[in-house]
Amino acid sequence: MDTSALATSFGARLPDWVAAELAGVPEVLATDEDRIRLVNRLAERNHRENTGGPFAALVVESGTGRLLSAGVNLVLASGLSSTHAEVVALSLAQTRLGAWDLGAPGGPGLELVVNWRPCVMCYGAAMWSGVRRLLLAGDGPEVEALTGFDEGPMREDWVEQFDARGIEIVRGVLRDEAVEVFRAYGERDDAVVYNARGAAAEATASRSA
Ligand SMILES: [Zn+2]
Repeated sequence: MDTSALATSFGARLPDWVAAELAGVPEVLATDEDRIRLVNRLAERNHRENTGGPFAALVVESGTGRLLSAGVNLVLASGLSSTHAEVVALSLAQTRLGAWDLGAPGGPGLELVVNWRPCVMCYGAAMWSGVRRLLLAGDGPEVEALTGFDEGPMREDWVEQFDARGIEIVRGVLRDEAVEVFRAYGERDDAVVYNARGAAAEATASRSA
């Protein structure tokens, strides 16, 4: 075969507006509210900037609140379907540390902060990353109802599955604020729902047509 046509690497980079947004953020996000407030803000701006869906994530040292990485959903900007905010934040933290295991013995306890419950892909990504805590603005039907995004076939016992692996789940921090971001996104008549197939895809096609 002619291998010259095959891609041999792939990558994604944060849009410049993220650095500008983070420039005014303190080094330390002391409370759960501080952390969720930032992901909500990044999620809101991400869809306004048309770089991806209304999702953002951080990797933070749980004890100190030091921010290690920030990610936003980059599916539209990167053309890569796996670049959800959680995957981006985890990958940037792993790149910064030069290590795939964010839970290595002797390291600081790291957590993933997200503005909603992970989708089925990010459920696995979070689990395999080594983070010890998952801090979520919320979970429930609002994302799918307000935005049209599909979370995939999540297990009913997803909290217990994290728990069984020693990963603490904290939910319901500034939840209403997170829902407002999804509502604003859903009210846009030019919003792109990129992961949809079947009935959801038809709804999107008619909406974006
Ligand atoms: Zn995801």
